Amino acid sequence: MPIVTIDGPSGTGKSTVTRAIADRFALPFLDTGAFYRAATLAVLEAGVAPEDGPAVIEVVKGITIDQKYGVTYLDGRDVSERIRDADVTGAVSAVSAHPEVRRMMVERQREWVEAEGGSAIVEGRDIGSVVFPDAEVKIYLDARPEVRAMRRAMESGEDPRTVAAAIERRDRYDSTRAVAPLTVPEGAVVIDTSDLAFDEVVEEVSRLVAAKS
Ligand code: C5P
Repeated sequence: MPIVTIDGPSGTGKSTVTRAIADRFALPFLDTGAFYRAATLAVLEAGVAPEDGPAVIEVVKGITIDQKYGVTYLDGRDVSERIRDADVTGAVSAVSAHPEVRRMMVERQREWVEAEGGSAIVEGRDIGSVVFPDAEVKIYLDARPEVRAMRRAMESGEDPRTVAAAIERRDRYDSTRAVAPLTVPEGAVVIDTSDLAFDEVVEEVSRLVAAKS
């Protein structure tokens, strides 16, 4: 079985598509955003400012992050729900922008896939470009900004305008950072999910995965 990478900004359906493909092909799946979120939670709990590079690195060096069946553990504690809170979401891009944090995360993500037997579906922002540049199947999901904001607002029950502003800020941060900015990886198939039903996206990705299995 191959390594499948799913990249793209928030609100494009990465997580739901990843889980559906994992189910269909019996592949382990890794949500790398949850790794960065767990690291960010540890930083906040340590009382460290997300922009304070050396202090952030010290915290991240000292923690263990794991994920099994979509449940995320920070030092053995299930933090799956806590890492979705607004304080973590507001700080995660700043924590993720430190090059040394990314280096450690990339290493841990590769080790995770290795421990799972070497094939998996992995979603994030730099998976096809940096973490697994030689992956057999690379997908980049995209959608129009207003569609992404509406999807996120429906998930969280927040005001679409507030969500749109937060998404826009995070996108800008993620695509302009110096190390591993969000980009379309070389060789990735781009799917704009704005006007597609969830099943149509899953069918399209399944076809690409089946061709390499
Ligand atoms: O996917 P999710 O919204 O949970 O990702 C949270 C944040 O983690 C992103 O906004 C980005 O700053 C960071 N991230 C990253 N690289 C990844 C996955 C997530 O920098 N591979």
